[in-house]
Amino acid sequence: MSAGNRSMAKKKSLVMKFGGTSVGTPEAIERAARIVADSLERWPHTTVVLSALSGVTNLLLEGAHKAADGDVSVAEAAADELLERHHHTIEELGIDPAVQRSLFAEIDQLIGEFRNFCEAIGVLGEATPRALDTVGSLGERLSVRIFAAVLDRMGIPAEAIEASRLIITDSNFLAAHPDWTATRRQVSKHLVPVLERGTVPVVTGFMGANPAGVITTMGRGGSDFSAAILAAALQADEVWIWTDVDGVMTADPRIVPNARTIPTLSYLELAELAYFGAKVLHPKTIRPVIEAGIGLAIRNTFEPSARGTRLLAKGASSSEQTVKAVTSIRGQVLITIEGSGMLGVPGVAARAFGAVAQTGTNVILISQASSEQSISFAVSADSAETVISAIETTFSIELMNREIDRVWASEEVVIVTVVGAGMRHTPGVAARVFSALGEHRVNVIAIAQGSSEVAISLVVAAKDMELTVRSLHDLI
Ligand code: ADP
Ligand code: ASP
Ligand code: MG
Repeated sequence: MSAGNRSMAKKKSLVMKFGGTSVGTPEAIERAARIVADSLERWPHTTVVLSALSGVTNLLLEGAHKAADGDVSVAEAAADELLERHHHTIEELGIDPAVQRSLFAEIDQLIGEFRNFCEAIGVLGEATPRALDTVGSLGERLSVRIFAAVLDRMGIPAEAIEASRLIITDSNFLAAHPDWTATRRQVSKHLVPVLERGTVPVVTGFMGANPAGVITTMGRGGSDFSAAILAAALQADEVWIWTDVDGVMTADPRIVPNARTIPTLSYLELAELAYFGAKVLHPKTIRPVIEAGIGLAIRNTFEPSARGTRLLAKGASSSEQTVKAVTSIRGQVLITIEGSGMLGVPGVAARAFGAVAQTGTNVILISQASSEQSISFAVSADSAETVISAIETTFSIELMNREIDRVWASEEVVIVTVVGAGMRHTPGVAARVFSALGEHRVNVIAIAQGSSEVAISLVVAAKDMELTVRSLHDLI
């Protein structure tokens, strides 16, 4: 532990992350800044982690992708829109005119970089993962500057910090992972002193940098993970994820309007929920905080008096309610490898998943028929073609010898997951799940249960998504 971190332990330390909608409008930024101001008395060492203004990351990435396809006009329109949106936000926030002018200059400079990058991408005809991370992270680099200026205006000394100085990652662009040792070192050097002099650091979420200083990102929704990384490196007491709903709910409130907030969740429950589609928390957020014994809460920026959801400490078990929440992941297909030659042949699965891994595709769920004559797994629909051709190459001999009959992708499907620790001890949950679906005439294409036994996942046709989620939600 560095000297900096040791002295940190004396003052209570909190990392607060605000998501895109929480900073999406001038009013939302005011609210979020007020939340920070109000917490400083209890939490003298508060670190703020910020997302881009809502919709900005999409605009940036869309601009880059379209430029790669030869149409730079989308990026040009996006640049104009970004300029207008950020200028308008700054103007609405009552920031001192001199500060406003320098903010405008910085914003214009960053948006100018966006134009240049997209032009270069257009010339090359290719948006590499590295270029996408440089472009995609611009939104956070814009938002932190505005937020720090608002805190300053409220009389709270604040400093915008780009996480490329703090979070050192591998070079796995689009899904970078931190180097913990290097990150702790950077945090002691560049973040702890800011806190110790009573300034609120406002750090970009989503991004980091590899050891050569090239910007990386943690993947979409990755600002939650950024907050966890910084909290772990700071040995903070708490991480609060401020978002636009009252915490983790029994289902996505956009699908189930009567979804309710879940006050507490165990580590395994929250991990399964996040992994199986509860967008409210990036799945990588949980591990670093639970390992470092840091408290985690998910709260509503627009309802700050609500308590939200708390993660229970390691080892603590939650209420034994059987079904606690239902989640879904859209845009999947089920890839099936089938053939009588697979029966009892060791290593088929290993080779299949080896081939999939080489394409860089994430397998979300695996299901094997008990006859062993087929194996199915879910991947995102847009990677289906690549995955099938990788598997066909790997099994070309078996395909020729008809030991494997075919490799095919289903129509688009959805993975619906029911989560609840009580399922572990309660027989018959699966039966209730299936009879609920039977009543609504939903056809279940495949099922899988995780080894943690706190979740059961079902694969259903895309058109059945809402009906499935709602009828399973009725079991809660
Ligand atoms: P932020 O920009 O704050 O990171 P996100 O859009 O990433 O917010 O996540 C919050 C959204 O997650 C909510 O608005 C909600 O629509 C969605 N969501 C999906 N599943 C759940 C769930 N089980 N509980 C709460 N929110 C959920
Ligand atoms: N702005 C990034 C995104 O939209 C990261 C985040 O908001 O968590 O994915
Ligand atoms: Mg998010």
